[in-house]
Amino acid sequence: PTEPLSSAAVLARRAQHVAEVQEHYYVDPPRIERGWRSLLIDTDARPYLDLVNNVASVGHAHPRLAAVANRRLRLLNTNSRFVYDALPAFAEALASRLPDGLDQVFFVNSGSEATDLAIRLAMAATGRRDIVALAEAYHGWTYASDAVSTSLADNPNALATRPDWVHTVPAPNSYRGRWRDADAWRYGPEAADRIRALAASGRPAAGFIAEAIQGNAGGILLPEGYLREVYAAVREGGGVTIADEVQVGLGRLGEWFWGFEQQGVVPDIVAVAKGLGNGHPVGAVITTAEIAESYRVGGYFFSSAGGSPLSCAIGSEVLAIIADEGLQANARQVGARLRAGLEALDSPWVGTVHGAGLYLGLELVRDNQRTPAPELTTELCERLRQLGVIMQATGDHGNVLKIKPPLVLTAQQADQFVTALARALADLG
Ligand code: PMP
Repeated sequence: PTEPLSSAAVLARRAQHVAEVQEHYYVDPPRIERGWRSLLIDTDARPYLDLVNNVASVGHAHPRLAAVANRRLRLLNTNSRFVYDALPAFAEALASRLPDGLDQVFFVNSGSEATDLAIRLAMAATGRRDIVALAEAYHGWTYASDAVSTSLADNPNALATRPDWVHTVPAPNSYRGRWRDADAWRYGPEAADRIRALAASGRPAAGFIAEAIQGNAGGILLPEGYLREVYAAVREGGGVTIADEVQVGLGRLGEWFWGFEQQGVVPDIVAVAKGLGNGHPVGAVITTAEIAESYRVGGYFFSSAGGSPLSCAIGSEVLAIIADEGLQANARQVGARLRAGLEALDSPWVGTVHGAGLYLGLELVRDNQRTPAPELTTELCERLRQLGVIMQATGDHGNVLKIKPPLVLTAQQADQFVTALARALADLG
């Protein structure tokens, strides 16, 4: 057709055959068919600032990725049982960015597969099956990754429907949880006690999985020393530790390339995906030789597209672009400017700003008791869309704006977002 279908027509078509469980943003969404760096562009040529897409880590429609994909698809795309150099080259690139000892790589296609495999590795390495996870976490939708996903925002029944091998410890949220502000240090000993009690009851944990910054909870930084304390308790009992870096890894935090560095720990297993493929399905699990060997003996692994020449070339190129374009430094600088702008917002609704670098969460509250303001948050996202900004809510209370733009966001775009937010808050206040 010469005339592009309207958004309403695409929605009607979608309603025909796309299972409804696959939701879309907004009641009345724009039709987005193009992206460029930190912008999304609708079919009326209207640009929107994309503040939500951490998958497009190096920006939408990056020309270097288009070139790499084009070249690879013209040469060869096949599975990892054939021998081609893109696979070890990508494995080497990942291992070189991780601490010594984390140098054995498995290639998958998504974050869910990566955390699922990470859990299986923990089970194979220990011969056990109990896993400890944080409340308010999201790790994926496959069987094992869904089992440790406790976020009520994603599944209101999450806590009531965990399999019996999953054990949760409280989300260590120093703003909103049981232990607040100066008392937040208590989360670490509390979780460590729980892990020791599990072992004492005859069910020592195979592993512990957590993000180093709780992403879907709203970009919540863990209290200082939390992972050090919990990792020690897990290891003391013979278990292994898993860092889910699917959202927070790869330089997004600005100060740190990996989230676990912020906590001063080194995990035994790292899961990475999302931004690693910039939208192309690329995931990886990196672990030690000892753990990888236990899985070779006690598990099964093959992925038809995981580790394909195309996926490896894209993953390697994304890592190279992050380095070549200085995107971690950009996340630090633009993230700091953005945070300062958010903190300076003059609105009674603004509770606090979570996160680091270009992974921030703006928590909206209705009073000084920190009562969540989810309705206002939803309205704010809608108003922001009218003002040309794509933004979504997250967290168990639906009252945190998840601010995680492509890492190429400019200072001017950060300012533009803060201005739009100030206006939206004033309009709704
Ligand atoms: N882990 C975390 C922390 C995530 O945020 C997500 C996706 N939101 C996943 C795992 C699952 O990744 P995917 O959607 O690629 O399966």
